[in-house]
Amino acid sequence: MQTERDKSVIQSKSISNDDLELIKLISEKIRIACNIASGELQLHEPSFEGNEWKYVKDCLDSGWVSSVGKYVDAFEAKLCEITGSKRAIAVSNGTSALHIALRLAGVLPGEEVLVPSITFVATANAISYVQAIPHFVDSSVSNLGVCPLKLKAWLKCSTKVEGDSLINTATGRRISALIVVHVLGHSADLDAIQEVCEEFHLKMIEDAAEALGTFYKGRHVGNDGILSCLSFNGNKTVTTGGGGAILTNDETIGDLAKHITTTAKIPHSWNFFHDQLGFNYRMPNINAALGLAQLEKLPEFLSRKRKLAEAYEKVFSNIEGVQFFKAPVYSNSNHWLNALLLKEGILEALLDCTYQQQIFARPLWTPMHKLPMYVNCPKQKLDNAEWLFKTLLLFPAAQN
Ligand SMILES: *Cc1c(COP(=O)(O)O)cnc(C)c1O
Repeated sequence: MQTERDKSVIQSKSISNDDLELIKLISEKIRIACNIASGELQLHEPSFEGNEWKYVKDCLDSGWVSSVGKYVDAFEAKLCEITGSKRAIAVSNGTSALHIALRLAGVLPGEEVLVPSITFVATANAISYVQAIPHFVDSSVSNLGVCPLKLKAWLKCSTKVEGDSLINTATGRRISALIVVHVLGHSADLDAIQEVCEEFHLKMIEDAAEALGTFYKGRHVGNDGILSCLSFNGNKTVTTGGGGAILTNDETIGDLAKHITTTAKIPHSWNFFHDQLGFNYRMPNINAALGLAQLEKLPEFLSRKRKLAEAYEKVFSNIEGVQFFKAPVYSNSNHWLNALLLKEGILEALLDCTYQQQIFARPLWTPMHKLPMYVNCPKQKLDNAEWLFKTLLLFPAAQN
């Protein structure tokens, strides 16, 4: 919801007539590309047109709605098939998947974890959940992911290697891992980032929450990290209502991930024995049933999203002051959300205009280093993150 304060901020900004014209034109073009002349245009809406009713009804009819049932296994198997990952562990949401990924990657309390400042808050929060400290790095303006060049330059001047450990020379703390985020469904430059991770003894984790169906140089994202996470929240490409998954190609880690996300109970007919600290992060069967039906529709969702991205690219191709954000050449992106790079100074007024016209566009997330709980965290210079926050408009990917 827009607040009164927001309104007065916009009204006090002086916008030139040319910029006002541009803003109106952008709103019109969004509707043209979406082919929806009036009414609400949501950022993303789920659609249920496959076996959703059938599978969910089956859960209700059989009584298997919760922690036992066949849909969780089927959902996990389908995820493996789609992503090419050896193991997929369905969990309660993407945030819990990230929490477990960090735990199983061996991140310890008091260590620092590198993470882009441009991400959804869950990525940074998960680092806090394992009592580690987020260390913010800058993003690439060409793919919205971690910029490998800036990362390498930063680590060269701010860290030292001691044995197998990377130490932040300013804080004296160990930096143990990097979380790569595939923002808006565009793949980060995994090969280049992987190289930096190897050079500096960093474990790599992928936050692929937004990137189901995205391929990097022909391989599905989420296969390069020791562990990766997916989200099936209602606003993601595929939804289970709420849900997530951990991906890994390491069988031992996969077994452990399943074990500790299901309370670490040793299977037994009547005994309740838990051999370590576990979590109740399992995905209920009824959610997996919904998710399985959604996964069956993924190819259609993706083709519609890609077509819409093409339509956007076309309508925005000849307008000065705006640039449609294209997938990097190496990324076959899922186009979860679409984005427009704007000339500086018009984002707020544009959001005001689109909001009034029921086009529910939004800016990027406020960068993590601007949030109260993370302002004092270590960080490199975040020029690109700040610029992207000021100039990137996320606009409707319309219906699946
Ligand atoms: C959605 C999202 C998450 C978290 O997923 P939830 O299922 O909402 O917990 C994590 N990271 C990114 C980048 C996301 O977009």
